[in-house]
Amino acid sequence: MRETYSRTASVWQRMTPRERRAVMNYGEKYKAFLDTARTERLAVNEILSRAEAAGFKPLYDQKELKPGDKVYWNQKGKSAILAVIGQDPVHSGMKIVGSHIDAPRLDLKGNPVHEQDGLVYFRTHYYGGIKKYQWPCIPLALVGVIYTKRGKKIEVNIGMDEKDPVFYITDLLIHMAQDQMKKTMAEGVTGEQLQAIIGSHSNRDEKAKDAVMNLIKKEYGVEEEDFTSAELELVPAMKSRDVGFDRSLIAAYGQDDRVCSFANLEGILAAKPGLKTQVALFTDKEEIGSYGNTGMQSSYFVKFVMKLLALQGKGGLLDFYETMENSEMLSGDVNSCMDPMFPEVTEKDNSSLCGYGIALTKYTGARGKAGSNDANSEFMQKVRTIFNEGGVAWQIGELGKVDQGGGGTIAFMMADWGCEVVDCGTAMLSMHSPYDLLSKADAYETFLAYKVFFESK
Ligand code: MN
Ligand code: MN
Repeated sequence: MRETYSRTASVWQRMTPRERRAVMNYGEKYKAFLDTARTERLAVNEILSRAEAAGFKPLYDQKELKPGDKVYWNQKGKSAILAVIGQDPVHSGMKIVGSHIDAPRLDLKGNPVHEQDGLVYFRTHYYGGIKKYQWPCIPLALVGVIYTKRGKKIEVNIGMDEKDPVFYITDLLIHMAQDQMKKTMAEGVTGEQLQAIIGSHSNRDEKAKDAVMNLIKKEYGVEEEDFTSAELELVPAMKSRDVGFDRSLIAAYGQDDRVCSFANLEGILAAKPGLKTQVALFTDKEEIGSYGNTGMQSSYFVKFVMKLLALQGKGGLLDFYETMENSEMLSGDVNSCMDPMFPEVTEKDNSSLCGYGIALTKYTGARGKAGSNDANSEFMQKVRTIFNEGGVAWQIGELGKVDQGGGGTIAFMMADWGCEVVDCGTAMLSMHSPYDLLSKADAYETFLAYKVFFESK
């Protein structure tokens, strides 16, 4: 079997030609997923349609649960959970992989349309952590839902098709940017300046804004007031692409955290049903702190587990806590990897490297690990053994050198209930940018890792 842990030989260097073909094939499927599942709602649609095709049934319709049964939970179309029932009772513990399907983007404000000097704009409020200067001058697609006054739901998806128009945020030309260029990168483009142009054409004696609103009304039946209750996201419209002469990397929007989410989906669909119940969790709102009733701080995961328990004759709160105490989880979220262009923010011996396998991150947090789950040695050892025995290429990771920065994932929320959990996901470059970058080999090892974890004892 190939070497599973190395800081000197990349996964590519350890692969057979057959494994290399599997990685490249996986990359094609993954890019197609990224280009379809562009928002949390679209990701849920894609995940549940794949799950239904594989025989998963709604949990809330079930009268009993037998080993091998496949069930799912749909949380308001924005989060989803898939489960394959194990030989052992659910109460004896689950194997959970938890990833998130929301990504940084620009959300429309409630009263977004306005005209300034003949150009018509959407005003936005950014979602998640972004470098604002990265979002002008790229094609943006508009995706989401909007209800008409009479309650008709309209699904909007404009800009991903080649024939669609896109939306666009301007930046100042370099010729006149001498004042802007003296500002810090945090101040060079402000949040209120992140307004996307949506039109400019009008007829004589007609305001450009009225012309655009008339067009929207004609094509979609939408009036200005309807925006107040809409949920519309501007997301980068660039399709996922191979990077490099060797096509070894993928650049795409939203790989945090759809790289782990796709691996999670492929992992549970490919895994053999096990002794333990396998749970693939795809949650929303991670990028803004897991709030809201589709985020991990809400009760939907608790209800899901208690429903599983109830169908097996348990279901008290103590049963829930005991189940979580017996459960193990990989918090499938991305980590940074060492960027040779910015080496000063990482400590080389403890940072993940691009193309060296899935990153196992004991602790995240910031300033003395604050806010971190900090996984137990016993569980780290168990996961390491599962990967070594399963032939998964893995490495360690940390989120920047000491006192450089930091961040968090959903790991600590699951740990609150007693679950053994460790952060374990793909390392990437340019995270949270409109077009981030990672290694195909690492994406594939993430899938292998989740699959062998689901199948483990
Ligand atoms: Mn993430
Ligand atoms: Mn993130």
